[in-house]
Amino acid sequence: MTTGFFWDEKCFWHGGGDYVLTFPAGGLVQPSATGGLPENPETKRRLKNLMDVTGLSSELAMQTAPEASYEDLARVHPKSFLTKFKQTSDAGGGELGRRTPFLQGGYEIAALSAGLSKSALSAVLKGEVKNAYALSRPPGHHCLPDWPNGFCLLANLAIAIEAAQAAGQAKRFAVVDWDVHHGNGTEGIFYTRDDVLTISLHEDRNYPLDTGDLADQGKGAGLGYNKNIPLPAGAGHDTYLEAMERIVLPALAAYKPDVIIIACGYDASIFDPLAHQLCTAETYRLMTRQVMQAAEKLCDGKLMMAHEGGYSEVYVPFCGHAVLQEMAGSKIDAPDPMAEIVAARQPNARVNQFHSELIGEMAAELL
Ligand SMILES: [Zn+2]
Repeated sequence: MTTGFFWDEKCFWHGGGDYVLTFPAGGLVQPSATGGLPENPETKRRLKNLMDVTGLSSELAMQTAPEASYEDLARVHPKSFLTKFKQTSDAGGGELGRRTPFLQGGYEIAALSAGLSKSALSAVLKGEVKNAYALSRPPGHHCLPDWPNGFCLLANLAIAIEAAQAAGQAKRFAVVDWDVHHGNGTEGIFYTRDDVLTISLHEDRNYPLDTGDLADQGKGAGLGYNKNIPLPAGAGHDTYLEAMERIVLPALAAYKPDVIIIACGYDASIFDPLAHQLCTAETYRLMTRQVMQAAEKLCDGKLMMAHEGGYSEVYVPFCGHAVLQEMAGSKIDAPDPMAEIVAARQPNARVNQFHSELIGEMAAELL
């Protein structure tokens, strides 16, 4: 069976605002030469282009998907919010939250982005593909039911999970969010539930500034089913793999999900302008291998990933190519042009030892 790859050129046409990094231009912040969002379409388009150039895309089941329906969106988002979003989008675009500007037609593009995730998850659960990747844009993991934020306009993965639940395709879902920012939206939506395990590995106090604590472990029936792993700035390859090995994989094994879902951001990479971690393309390859092995053991290999953040135009494509190559078990490689430099820039043994101790303390708290 093949790996499904869900993408659509229209998702690259989402835009709005004028930002320099995450600062809105204006006042003393000089407008950027190109304008637009820091969540730049080129990071994602260049991943697809690299896959075309190496030939990897010819080994995958490349496809688009229908927009998520209003009914799909309304399982997660209040109707009042959807109405306002649609009206603002029809009227030329605007901003309904924080750092989430959109143009005319932004509503339909966001629904398409959610639709790519929904179809990717459904294809995995129905056994149509071995595993699947959704190149969803705009991303989704920060979005709360009535408050889009952090470039996320709709909660793509929550919409996909609720649609799969409603269709009776699966009962227990595990979401591992390795985007460098806290998956506050996914956490918030499933915080009181035990049918969706949410795990977020993130840089401590990056975005949002006030969420993602180790102590936030769920509430009511959801107590124990939300796990935050806040890593200090400067964590690299060894620390990420160790956190996966010592916390994420045991948590997945204990939960026994029907499917493993990855909120796949590449902004923990060493070249990311919006964070301060030191992961490499090889880190993403090996984390993918870890979750694939877990999926084999726990849920018949069922694994779905949705693209979230990642802001280095040059480096994201190599990280993503490594992930897709691993998912597909392909021989087609895109060697990391920066491999020597990124290996040399990893933290030294003393820093890794400090991180290892932190991971041990977090494991004792979370498992
Ligand atoms: Zn992010």
